[in-house]
Amino acid sequence: MNHFKKNSVSRIIAYFSMEIAVDERIPTYSGGLGILAGDTLSAAASVGFSMVGVSLLYRKGYFFQRIDENGVQTEEPVEWIVDDFLVEQQPRVKIQLENREITLRAWLYEIEQMDHKIPVYFLDTDLPENDPYDRGLSGFLYGGDDRYRLCQEAVLGIGGVRMLRALGYKKIDRFHMNEGHSSLLTLELLREQMVEAGHDQASWEDIEAVRALCVFTTHTPVAAGHDKFPLSLVKQVLPFFPLHGELRDIFCCGDYLNMTYLALNLSHYINGVAKRHSEVSRMLFSHYEIDAITNGIHVPSWLSGPIQKLFDEHIPRWKEDIFSIRYAISIPLKEIWEAHLINKRLLLDFINRQKNVGMDIDHFTIGFARRMTAYKRPELIFTNLERLNSIAKSVGPLQLIFAGKAHPKDEEGKKIIQRIHAIRHLLGPEIKLVFIENYDLALAKRIVAGVDLWLNNPQPPFEASGTSGMKAAINGVPSLSVLDGWWIEGCIEGTTGWSFGMDLFQLKESKENALSLNRDASDLYDKLEKLIMPIFYNNPDSYASIMRSCIAINGSFFNAQRMLMQYVLKAYY
Ligand SMILES: *Cc1c(COP(=O)(O)O)cnc(C)c1O
Repeated sequence: MNHFKKNSVSRIIAYFSMEIAVDERIPTYSGGLGILAGDTLSAAASVGFSMVGVSLLYRKGYFFQRIDENGVQTEEPVEWIVDDFLVEQQPRVKIQLENREITLRAWLYEIEQMDHKIPVYFLDTDLPENDPYDRGLSGFLYGGDDRYRLCQEAVLGIGGVRMLRALGYKKIDRFHMNEGHSSLLTLELLREQMVEAGHDQASWEDIEAVRALCVFTTHTPVAAGHDKFPLSLVKQVLPFFPLHGELRDIFCCGDYLNMTYLALNLSHYINGVAKRHSEVSRMLFSHYEIDAITNGIHVPSWLSGPIQKLFDEHIPRWKEDIFSIRYAISIPLKEIWEAHLINKRLLLDFINRQKNVGMDIDHFTIGFARRMTAYKRPELIFTNLERLNSIAKSVGPLQLIFAGKAHPKDEEGKKIIQRIHAIRHLLGPEIKLVFIENYDLALAKRIVAGVDLWLNNPQPPFEASGTSGMKAAINGVPSLSVLDGWWIEGCIEGTTGWSFGMDLFQLKESKENALSLNRDASDLYDKLEKLIMPIFYNNPDSYASIMRSCIAINGSFFNAQRMLMQYVLKAYY
């Protein structure tokens, strides 16, 4: 890792992301994308590699989730005090939006690991000199309409580059766009390049100079999931946007500004976030070379205390060399199991106090926590309640812990939460089900470490990577997951967990899609009934051995230090 330290003086990477999760008390993230951003920057701190993060400040956060007894979600602005956590920076920069000039400031948070600090700047428009609409752009993450979103993305991309310059970052070696939201930064880099070259019109050389600086990571395997804005809106919000001329096709496609194409066209390195996701992306965007760097989690951020204690005892200096977690394979099974029971106790105590459900530490406990939205199929395990009840009755009791927010505009996601609440009344006495409110970093840490099994059943190929199963793995919790995203790479059947279900990627007929739900559910029940629960209830040593393999095999690889090294090797140099 000294390699990084020696070179870091001369190399700086700017990492742009619409959301960055840096601390559980700072609500500037919604889920996987923001957590990945925070974990990437934390990994840079851990190995002493120079990066700087740029994101937006959200004074009202994503939202605070409340759920009533019928499962109806309501959203509240998150109340938090910005200057309790972030330090205001002196410089002010201006950008033009519509016909107004707006002033930006930045707030600093420093991610600190192993004596190394990585600055993260949160851009803020809430200044008295700005128009009330513009002040509100530092309000909600993923709120508002197209106009609101495009203005925010202009603040992030264009304002972000200007702010970095004003803060003294004159030489930045790479601009990494974490998803397309920040791709307007390419316009600002192009403007800088033209000024430097003395051009009033961009030339192909100017475009090449920008491409040499830019790296793009795509996260969304569905065409509809990519941000795009009608050109009429673009004309209104960004009057300087290059809508005409020889290079027009670089910037827009048809009647839209598509943020993904903008980033694809202006980056010299592009990647998806797992092997399968890159294959799917190459089909969506067939004219581009799209590599794969599989996501990872920042181990020190997700490791529970009891498992960390085992590492400290058995794997000297594991923090300096994350790959040495492989040697967890020699930790005695009894110690793994005891550490797990401490985590499980903490989680169940927390849940029993909050929900009064009397969950039992001896009972098999499954976790399912992620954004509540249709493609993640949160209700799959409830497809056949008769079958589920009979498994719990014959093999052993079952406890299910659910959590997750539905995006305020995702009506189907909200209905899913209601239906899961209604199901509680249809379950037999051997099954307990709770839904915990307001899924966030802190809750995720408890759940991923405290359950016996992590369930993941998105509809392939829609899960680009998924990272929560990696957080479970490092804590010794195996996954039962469909083969999509990272699990195609992480699953060694019966060793690091289990797979189930059909691969929709292979299917053409929509009739078969409908059938696949029932087949996937029945496959899920089979795995639980015949394989997983019997091991848990009858052969605990065998279960502990699977837990240990999860840590040694998947924990040592699906982490952010490995991921960062791949970015360094493939994209940053
Ligand atoms: C890890 C995490 C996610 C992402 O989970 P996936 O399994 O990738 O969907 C979302 N929200 C929170 C709070 C998380 O910690």
